[in-house]
Amino acid sequence: MTRSTTVQINGERLWSELESLAKIGALPGGGVCRLAFSKEDKQGRDYVEQRMRDAGLEVRIDPIGNILGVRDGTGPDRRLVLTGSHIDTVGTGGKYDGSLGVLAGLEVLQTLNEHQVQTHHAVGVVAFVNEEGVRFMPDMMGSLYVSGQLGLDEIEPIEGIDGKTIKECLDEVAFSGEDDIPVDFIKSFIELHIEQGPVLLDKELDIGIVDRVQGILWEEVVLEGESNHAGVTPMHRRRDAGYVASSIAAYVRTLTEEIEGLRGTVGALSLFPNLINVIAKEATMTIDLRHAEKDRLIQARDLLHQKINALCEKEKVRPSIKPLADVDPVIFDAQCVESVEKAAEALHYSSMRMISGAGHDAQIMASKWPASMIFIPSQDGISHNINEYSTPEHVEAGANVLLHAILDKAGMSTL
Ligand SMILES: [Zn+2]
Repeated sequence: MTRSTTVQINGERLWSELESLAKIGALPGGGVCRLAFSKEDKQGRDYVEQRMRDAGLEVRIDPIGNILGVRDGTGPDRRLVLTGSHIDTVGTGGKYDGSLGVLAGLEVLQTLNEHQVQTHHAVGVVAFVNEEGVRFMPDMMGSLYVSGQLGLDEIEPIEGIDGKTIKECLDEVAFSGEDDIPVDFIKSFIELHIEQGPVLLDKELDIGIVDRVQGILWEEVVLEGESNHAGVTPMHRRRDAGYVASSIAAYVRTLTEEIEGLRGTVGALSLFPNLINVIAKEATMTIDLRHAEKDRLIQARDLLHQKINALCEKEKVRPSIKPLADVDPVIFDAQCVESVEKAAEALHYSSMRMISGAGHDAQIMASKWPASMIFIPSQDGISHNINEYSTPEHVEAGANVLLHAILDKAGMSTL
């Protein structure tokens, strides 16, 4: 990793900000729990809001709690060159997933202030609410709201896993503001995030230039067979839902070997009555399929359905398949991707173009505005885990690439 002599962010300050925010909702062992719309989430948001005000940004909070900090441009087109991410976490989250993108955005704006850089466009940083979706579905809720794909009337009644509605949470912890982000005010969106996978680490690269996000298909499959005695029922007379479910799970793995680039997971599987000496009457399972190309994803789903039907017919088990999610792959804006690539090259960081395996706010923003993402390596390729870690050097590299990608989009008028 080589450092450039051009304007740079303050890596030590950014690192210490990450440590400070991680104290809010801190878990034993180093992780963080700030579930969306919780008291800890609100404390984290208050922290970010205060930092935005300290940096002299104009702060807007919208009715679901998305926080935007803006540094004005010199015009005449002052539309917002936006960055940001989220600060909510899963139940056993790490210090970097989401928080990095928000705090690095803040660090970029502070750097512009300190170096007295004037930009043509306004530059902003946003902390989206409820990106993780573990307490309240759907995930990426904040960016869905900002991009007009989910309304306040749809969001407020949503009930969480603990039985509370979002409306109750908004009222209880005073999340809401009144300043919607005007849709025609945004010009572009670039998000910095940890990779959450092992690709950059394995290739020993500093920066991932993310040009696509995988599409996702989620389905729930319920299989209805017949319970009977494990000892006396001949094999050919069984209607074994457990057997069919495990055959489907094995086929999902086979599919990933047949369709290049496909990822397939059976993450949940339950049997009823789930007893050692009883043939399972019912099996309920989830299937998660991901691919960067829509055609391949549809091909995988069709082959899977054919297989499910064939297995069920043979075993006289009745299947029902319920779609749970269908998210198209996203191709990021070529110019936003180039801004990231140019920045990484100019700063002499090693990099590659890559696909995001996980979902992010940037893919939601991409449906409405030009967008792209920057990844930095995740130690051991793990996240959603208290041991999530990225090195201070990679955090600094990512924020520097973000700074220069933003300057490319925002147009520097003076330095
Ligand atoms: Zn995230």
